[in-house]
Amino acid sequence: MRRSRAWTGRALHTLGAATVYALLGAATVGTPLVAAAIPAHATDSTCAVIVSTNDEHGSLQPSVYPWTAGRLAGGAEVLASYIARIRETAGCPVFVVSAGDIMQGTLISNLTRGRATIDAMNAIGYDAAAIGNHEFDFGVRVLKERIRQAHFPLLGANIYLKGTDRHPSWARPYVIVEKEGVRVGIVGATTRSTPGTTHPDSVSGLAFRSIAAALDRYIPRLRAEGVDFVVVLIHAGGFCEDDGGCTGEALDELAAASPDFDYAVTGHTHTRILDRVHGAPVIQSYANMSAVGQGRLTRFGDGEVVAEVVEIHALFTEGAARHPEVAAVVRRYEEEAAARSAETIATLSEPLPKVFAGGSRLGRLIADAQRLAVGADVAIMNNGGIRAELPGGPINYGDLFRVQPFQNTLIRLRLRGGLLLAALEHSLSERGLMANVSGLIVEYDPDEPRGARVRCARLADGRYVRRDSTYTVVVNNFMVAGGSGYWMFKEATEAEQTGIVDLDALVTFLKGQAGPVEAPPEARWIVRAGAPAGCG
Ligand SMILES: [Zn+2]
Repeated sequence: MRRSRAWTGRALHTLGAATVYALLGAATVGTPLVAAAIPAHATDSTCAVIVSTNDEHGSLQPSVYPWTAGRLAGGAEVLASYIARIRETAGCPVFVVSAGDIMQGTLISNLTRGRATIDAMNAIGYDAAAIGNHEFDFGVRVLKERIRQAHFPLLGANIYLKGTDRHPSWARPYVIVEKEGVRVGIVGATTRSTPGTTHPDSVSGLAFRSIAAALDRYIPRLRAEGVDFVVVLIHAGGFCEDDGGCTGEALDELAAASPDFDYAVTGHTHTRILDRVHGAPVIQSYANMSAVGQGRLTRFGDGEVVAEVVEIHALFTEGAARHPEVAAVVRRYEEEAAARSAETIATLSEPLPKVFAGGSRLGRLIADAQRLAVGADVAIMNNGGIRAELPGGPINYGDLFRVQPFQNTLIRLRLRGGLLLAALEHSLSERGLMANVSGLIVEYDPDEPRGARVRCARLADGRYVRRDSTYTVVVNNFMVAGGSGYWMFKEATEAEQTGIVDLDALVTFLKGQAGPVEAPPEARWIVRAGAPAGCG
């Protein structure tokens, strides 16, 4: 069989990220961002249209994103109406797929532990999805419920029972979907970093092995079953440079695999990827149901396959057609979420603004909640993770969700004092203080050179942090991964994933307070000009 996947359209991979943000900003519904020349639907050919999303993260409702210039984009209804239009006009059967991280990330989805998102995807008509790392966030028991609920399979070809070559019963490696006589074989796999991103109990007994090896194991089976096309869904991603080069786990794994796939959908990095590996298109369409990818596969009578990306399309809501059935599903869960999010968690004695110089009361409150939840000597909470302020008076679950929407998990570190002091020094950035702390009073001299501004740090029991002693420190998984430049947490003596979600720690802490809650008023970062190193 001759297989050819030469570009017949524009050199899509040369469009860089900056260009595309501009394109997305300018695009309207019905305007392809990227248009490829599509071979005519010849009588001696077979074709399939692949519509793909990735990293939906429960974003069933439209939202404003940094690239939309204040316009609403995304959501299940506008996605459904886009797909309905493609189904009417494609002239080929349409297969709808996701590269995973489907259901965790919004109030409407999290409150039902993903049930809302799976119902919406059922109504949209998805055919298959990869199991993403965040699919484990509610535990395997919930994941199995969601897999039973889904009208489409969730695929995990590289997820094994530890020490065996068998998959857990709920993780199918592949599926063959047939429509109008066109058979598409779909293999799904997920990032090998999954165990580091979720509660250890959720992934105990599981091994996340080579994606390339999983593709090489299953694609020959699909070919032996005589599928027309092979599509791979990889919940791993990458980044593309302006000059067109793309790198990352997904690209590496695809390059290491045998070249017998026709189209690859990636995810996890929430990026725009348009590339080719082994001649096959590799696509990723941002995240949050705010954009959608469309590709077209054509097999000619002589066996030649032409695989094209048609577009990555920004899903703006204005002017989009209605889709009453999907809208009704979202509306039902909105009502359910409204009731739940209105639950009063605590009463605040005064409003808590996001951040002000020298640390914030809100940041200290969150850091205190995390230190208590994990039982650590010290908590360090990055200000970038605090996304909203809180009003004074009664506050509800929805208010708190807006403050900490990322569902980060807390990591308990054993950290040498020298690294702890380095983390504190790093927190004194040029743009102001980057973090709030709990269990520490930090004294610093802004006139000292960088690297020597933190003069000393005193623990709750009055002892000074010593460089050669070891402390338990709680931070979130974003910071441990090097987020906000905190390289020093990667050098911790031990790192234990507690699985405690940051928002849950805050809710528990607030519920445990008697009477109106007063956030810690006293500064924990103190300017002390001329303080001796080590203070005392
Ligand atoms: Zn992911």
